[in-house]
Amino acid sequence: MVELAKKSRSEDGSVRFVWRLEGGHEVESVLFRTTPTSFIQPAAQCGERRLDLPSGAVVCISSQAGCNVGCRFCATGLQPMRKNLSAEEISAQVFAAAREEGISGGIRVVFAGMGEPMLNYEPVRDAALRLAGHDDIRNVAISTMGIVPAIRRLAAEAPTVDLYVSLHAATDPLRTTLVPLNRKYPIEAVLAAATEFATSTGRRVDISYLLLRGINDSAGDARELAALLDPDLFTVKVLLWNEVAGLPFERVPDEHAVLFADWLADQGQPAYVIPSKARDVDAGCGQMITTEPSATRLRRVTSEFPRIDLGPVSVREGTR
Ligand code: SF4
Repeated sequence: MVELAKKSRSEDGSVRFVWRLEGGHEVESVLFRTTPTSFIQPAAQCGERRLDLPSGAVVCISSQAGCNVGCRFCATGLQPMRKNLSAEEISAQVFAAAREEGISGGIRVVFAGMGEPMLNYEPVRDAALRLAGHDDIRNVAISTMGIVPAIRRLAAEAPTVDLYVSLHAATDPLRTTLVPLNRKYPIEAVLAAATEFATSTGRRVDISYLLLRGINDSAGDARELAALLDPDLFTVKVLLWNEVAGLPFERVPDEHAVLFADWLADQGQPAYVIPSKARDVDAGCGQMITTEPSATRLRRVTSEFPRIDLGPVSVREGTR
């Protein structure tokens, strides 16, 4: 169902898999491990307020070969979508990765690899339900840019699955420049659907927020983000951008990501930072690509985001 085409191991122990599918298309998965100390939480979130974040093996899997959503910071978005994976091809990535690494039991699965899972809804739902019901799987989460009707369906049809919503900006004008899908599903509509998901399933929703230096990383951005969110329903997961050749963005220092989470916590919004994994084998968040990038798509991003000189990195930057 999926055939191993390539396997590489990161210095941090994560493993990148490239799978060949029937028809010759390739997709990636990454297997990594987290421990209670993998995540960084704001100092204000201690004692009873400390988030209980799970540890163990995580397999991040793909649902499409390529992606047409076109998020400007993402390598997969530079690869035109050529195939929606079947439910079997999706779930097979988990079992094949676990078999390769001799892991049985306690596996967490995240649909955050190549593709927008909610644009391949039925196979993703079926695979997620099958995985969630398997003895070796502890937890399944689907990450989406915010396909509103699909979030509503998921709440009704797969309430045992967790939801991650990628926001990456706190205002519509900024989010539209980073995630063009925002024109169709703006922030208010996405958060309304995520709120319905959280209330109907009783599951907190993680809001993913990828920091891009000088673009969405200021104290003002944190304040605006916190003002949008209900702290009883949402947790913000702060992510660091992993370099993609040809894309004009800059990564913030790790310390700045912690500061951003602190700003959120100061507003009463639970947050935590996920340090990058598998970055040295190009399998970090946003780095997955299995063909040459489309020159047209690359040109579009570099014309929309001309490089500006942000100067040397400073830990205390972004307090504007
Ligand atoms: S972030 Fe996800 S939805 Fe956006 S282009 Fe990349 S793979 Fe597609």
